[in-house]
Amino acid sequence: MKEIVSSNYSIFFNNDGYVKLQDLIHKVKYSNIFILVDENTETKCLKILLSNFNQKFSVIKIKSGEENKNLSTCNYVWSFLNNSNADRKSLLINLGGGVITDMGGFIASTFNRGIDFINIPTTLLSIIDASIGSKTGVNFNQLKNNIGTFTDPKLVIIDKKYLETLDEKNLKSGYAEIFKHSLISGNLFVKLINDSKTIFNDEIIYNSINVKNNIVKKDRNESNLRKSLNFGHTIGHAYESLKMNKSDKLLHGEAIAAGMIIELYLSHVVLNFPKKTVNECKKHLGLFFDKIKTTDLEINELFRLMKFDKKNFKKKINFVLLNEVGSFKTDVNVSKEIIIEAINYYIKN
Ligand code: NAD
Repeated sequence: MKEIVSSNYSIFFNNDGYVKLQDLIHKVKYSNIFILVDENTETKCLKILLSNFNQKFSVIKIKSGEENKNLSTCNYVWSFLNNSNADRKSLLINLGGGVITDMGGFIASTFNRGIDFINIPTTLLSIIDASIGSKTGVNFNQLKNNIGTFTDPKLVIIDKKYLETLDEKNLKSGYAEIFKHSLISGNLFVKLINDSKTIFNDEIIYNSINVKNNIVKKDRNESNLRKSLNFGHTIGHAYESLKMNKSDKLLHGEAIAAGMIIELYLSHVVLNFPKKTVNECKKHLGLFFDKIKTTDLEINELFRLMKFDKKNFKKKINFVLLNEVGSFKTDVNVSKEIIIEAINYYIKN
């Protein structure tokens, strides 16, 4: 598959990616190479990387999970880097899902005021979304990605082989963002909505990366166009935060799937998005995702959490909504009553 060019870096597929990585290492002559993994990517993914890589390196292992995407894990890694005499010419390779690529990117972008990093995403979600677009960060005070930077990786390597060990729940989680990319762009939408089985293939992955990359290339720092990628995320992030420390905690894509159904309903009420398509999308996403149980108390908590959304302006909750498939409007303010009606559409029908 042909490389996808982003603003200051490129996304390479399969062997081309490993060749580019070796080229980069030879060119820059890094003083140290660190590979950031969690316990799952250490056992399941590191061997794939190492079969394509013959440099000296140190492994930094952290605990997996969204609950560990925080400053205390960063402290651990920053200390590890200091204790290993890392300097400005060190390279950090992030080998993992979105937690590793987001947090590793943040650690690299702040260590010694910034060292090079590359992303090797190993989950479907990080392949088609998290590893691309230069957003790095960690959660803080129960708020998703509250602390972070916009920093480009040196390159991104996409290798579908990593997905062979990923469980179905995480594959489905990635599908939520694939579906979002097709909703906001219109690309492959008809194909996806009429297919109840295919979570990914080469065409879907390539298309999905392209949709995201074309948007972030035009608006890296999210002044306007990039906000479209937040479709489903105002409510989705609130759900993810709500359940973060509970026994029924959600994967990112599971929360975004619920967020998309609710925000599609809002799109219908506020922008006249066709109700028939809202119902079709709800049914389609229902094939992949269980409905999230939500009590009345939790609805209030969702509002509290939505107030912290980064898209808000002057204390108003702002949404990205769709006029139709492939066409969106940013910064749409919606009343609390309509939001409750939309949540009820999701919960009750
Ligand atoms: P994750 O990183 O937590 O990975 C999910 C689980 O899969 C983890 O337990 C991990 O150890 C395991 N795993 C990873 N690769 C594996 C493999 N190949 N085989 C077996 N197990 C494997 O979750 P995720 O869904 O990849 O990413 C979610 C994160 O991405 C969230 O924190 C979200 O905020 C972030 N995100 C960021 C962006 C962005 O633009 N920066 C976009 C979307 C999501």
